Amino acid sequence: MDFIEIKEGCYYFKSAVNIGYILSDDKKHGMLIDAGLESSAAKKALYILQEKNLPFTHLFITHAHADHFGGAQYLQTNYKIHTIAPSFEEAIMRNPILEPMYLFHGNSPLKEMRNKFLEAPAIQIDETCENGLWTEESFHVEFVHLPGHSYNQFGLQYKEILYAADAFLGLEILDKHKIPFIVDAAANLSTLEYLMQLKVEGMLPGHGSFSSNYVNTIRSNIDVHQKLSSQVIKFLIACEDRGLSLEDLIAKMLIKHEIEPANLGMYSLFRTAITAYLIQLIKERKAVYTIKEGRPFIFLGQSSA
Ligand SMILES: [Zn+2]
Repeated sequence: MDFIEIKEGCYYFKSAVNIGYILSDDKKHGMLIDAGLESSAAKKALYILQEKNLPFTHLFITHAHADHFGGAQYLQTNYKIHTIAPSFEEAIMRNPILEPMYLFHGNSPLKEMRNKFLEAPAIQIDETCENGLWTEESFHVEFVHLPGHSYNQFGLQYKEILYAADAFLGLEILDKHKIPFIVDAAANLSTLEYLMQLKVEGMLPGHGSFSSNYVNTIRSNIDVHQKLSSQVIKFLIACEDRGLSLEDLIAKMLIKHEIEPANLGMYSLFRTAITAYLIQLIKERKAVYTIKEGRPFIFLGQSSA
């Protein structure tokens, strides 16, 4: 885990899941942005902070995905810190079983869904954040609403640097994921368009490297999402007469991208992302569905004819 200085006051711990760090001007307060997948990641970050004599007083969790707050319980147990998170997301952080539950039908999850990638240890939240300026002691930060990847994700802007959470993926990660996780295709696209026109010195995604050339990265993310949505339509066109069951549509998308999910958890993540495009197409009347033969069938809608 490397500790990288973006500019004075703005840093991050580079890892598979980045952890951001900002330092107040009086150097008395330090805020971690997300906490990594598990306590070992948080422990490593704290070890580096202590080695460099840097303070740790605040923790901001951008959204309730286990890989972003898995290390937070360790931090809350071992340090006296003030924890901030977005509303709604904070409810999941307090009741983390909700993540494996919502990913698969709302049932009590099978035990293989209850792993560290989908269910982090529960944490307490001291304060929920709102869109806009937040000032406390010597911190002046801006919380930025970035929904789409998760229902109420927020990023944080400090000294012209945006910690963008999972609003977009770094290029190398985008390529690897093939179908990035989203819950709301329209919100995701609006967030990406908003970020494209945001003027900052640079952005750090939750997965990938810091970049001052973020416009190109975000444009590539938009291209991927638009392509995926078009692919859903193409499959519906190909099955225009008989329609396509939801399960078959997901299978076709996974096979097309040569994705073989290793387990039910992985499958659920892809299923949610693909369903997000479908929901948007239904809202735009480009697709319709009916329940027949005991399952939902999707048909091409009138607006895409
Ligand atoms: Zn995430």
